[in-house]
Amino acid sequence: MDCKRLERYLSRYLEGELEREQKDKVEEHLACCPSCAGKLKKLEAITAILRRLKPVQPRGDLAALLSEKVQREIGYW
Ligand SMILES: [Zn+2]
Repeated sequence: MDCKRLERYLSRYLEGELEREQKDKVEEHLACCPSCAGKLKKLEAITAILRRLKPVQPRGDLAALLSEKVQREIGYW
């Protein structure tokens, strides 16, 4: 699995939505790619923030805006 492909799996990996086989490949890649491991860490932090916002945040558009911005930032890495 290369970095570009891994990026597409990362969010689903975080949500625990990947098949075992895909999950193994993601973990395999993360173990030998510090750059993607860093991305995962950042995405984890952002996801945690968004999760905390959700229950008290009635305006869904803020979360959408945030994740859109984040995705754009990650895309530029
Ligand atoms: Zn990578």
